[in-house]
Amino acid sequence: MEMQMEFKRKLPIPKEIKEQFPLSKEVMELKERRDREIQKLFTGEDNRLILIIGPCSADNEAAVLDYMHRLKAVQDKVSDRIYVIPRVYTNKPRTTGIGYKGIASQPDPTKGEDMLAGLIAIRSLHTKVVEETGFTCADEMLYPVNHRYLSDLLSYVAIGARSVENQEHRLTASGVGIPAGMKNPTGGDISVMMNSVIAAQNPHTFIYRGWEVQTTGNPYAHCILRGYVDKFGRSHANYHYEDLHNVWDSYQAHPELVNPAVIVDCNHNNSGKQYLEQVRIAKDVMHSCHISKDVNRLVRGLMIESYIEDGAQKIGEGIYGKSITDPCLGWEKTEKLIYELADLVEL
Ligand code: PEP
Ligand code: MN
Repeated sequence: MEMQMEFKRKLPIPKEIKEQFPLSKEVMELKERRDREIQKLFTGEDNRLILIIGPCSADNEAAVLDYMHRLKAVQDKVSDRIYVIPRVYTNKPRTTGIGYKGIASQPDPTKGEDMLAGLIAIRSLHTKVVEETGFTCADEMLYPVNHRYLSDLLSYVAIGARSVENQEHRLTASGVGIPAGMKNPTGGDISVMMNSVIAAQNPHTFIYRGWEVQTTGNPYAHCILRGYVDKFGRSHANYHYEDLHNVWDSYQAHPELVNPAVIVDCNHNNSGKQYLEQVRIAKDVMHSCHISKDVNRLVRGLMIESYIEDGAQKIGEGIYGKSITDPCLGWEKTEKLIYELADLVEL
């Protein structure tokens, strides 16, 4: 039997979408400048704390822009100690594959999939965020071939826990030109994450979007610790001092790796989705940095899931600024936490 797949319509290629929705010269320059600044945070030339922060999913343009304006006001007050890269996550992996897959698939979460409208929605959202706030953002590179629709806008990509062992993600990460955070897999195997960093830091030749391509290798590929589940489905953390030291040791065992770096994801299985725990976890990691020079050198930043309202809601409840995927820390608590973290940064 032939493939059971209806080819519904041909979609524009990235070049066409980029021509249709071009960026201003100011935005292009800003992205170049931010990319250079962010590189220095990963090489250790700049010791400010990286904060990759924002909603689990960027589900609603108005609420996301509102959130980003609030975040910008706080960023300006702590910019001597903290460097914010907002999460504008437009593609969502799902544990069972079922459910809301992000505005890239469903620009309106209450309606069905529309992939063309999705491509336009993700470009529009990332463009508006940078135009209105000056932030270039982070997204998950869930579908490597789609990265090019946003490659002139994004300053950071994460390779998710469900994708990090996948060759296509690793090879694409080796050629994205911006920092790529490789998460530990859901089962927690640290060697899978380290192997992913090795793969992404090396050059590769492969097929990408119908082309034979050659990548340079990505010296800014690094680790993200996000906690894990055991074989009984129980959640476990991996942000503790010992976990961080273990990753430092893993880097020492791979002297060929450059720019050793960890971002600690304070939600997901590190909090067991007890999203309020992110506050305590973030401070715990800062404490670990204070007591070890190696850990301080290794940990470059934190990832926090945060939105306007605390917690999460079901799609259709319609509460403005409340997550429809993982529960997030609300704005008031977020703002307080960022100021507290700024006080804990040792430069
Ligand atoms: C996320 O960052 O929202 C996410 C889905 O992460 P992970 O891949 O760690 O589950
Ligand atoms: Mn999430």
